[in-house]
Amino acid sequence: MRHPGVLAAALAGHTLLLAGCGGTPAPSLLSGRACLARLDAQEVSYRPLAEVSASSSSCHVDTAVRVSRVAAGLNHPAVMSCALASRLDEFEREVVQPLAREELGRRVVRIDQIGSFSCRGINGGSRLSQHALGLAIDIAGFRQSDGSTVSVEHDWHEPGPKRSFLRHLARRACRYFSVVLTPDSNAEHHAHLHLDIGRDRLCEA
Ligand SMILES: [Zn+2]
Repeated sequence: MRHPGVLAAALAGHTLLLAGCGGTPAPSLLSGRACLARLDAQEVSYRPLAEVSASSSSCHVDTAVRVSRVAAGLNHPAVMSCALASRLDEFEREVVQPLAREELGRRVVRIDQIGSFSCRGINGGSRLSQHALGLAIDIAGFRQSDGSTVSVEHDWHEPGPKRSFLRHLARRACRYFSVVLTPDSNAEHHAHLHLDIGRDRLCEA
């Protein structure tokens, strides 16, 4: 079901977020029915989840959804907050696809994600990861329309159009996600991009 009024309000919120890239706090994220209406308007393929099972009560996901497809399909469905699903779809449509056409000459047909909701601390420590709130996703690569793949692990450092695509993509991701970690960040991220919409701000692209 489409809700143009909700979409317009959400888009206005997004513009505010972009305007706030200089380090000012992000406005509160879309939540509940307003967020689900936004996902419907964006034509994201998802199933709402009543709750997520977690090993700790500190882990919870606001308006949890299981997403199988944003503008491109996911390699396997991922549990995340509705707000992250919406942001991922925007990023896919506004950045990933245009950049793939420009730099690789073809479409991206699949996002290879290797983790979204996960009840854990940062690097196994006590500080809660944004993954524990469903606000983060790890992306290992992309499948292109000709069947070939772009891999963060192999192509981040290998000179050529795939490296250029990944590095431009990561840089632009900093306008959509509050934290962007790449293979340049640390050894834990040698094979994926970490994108989250939590409260911290860090752009390592
Ligand atoms: Zn991550």
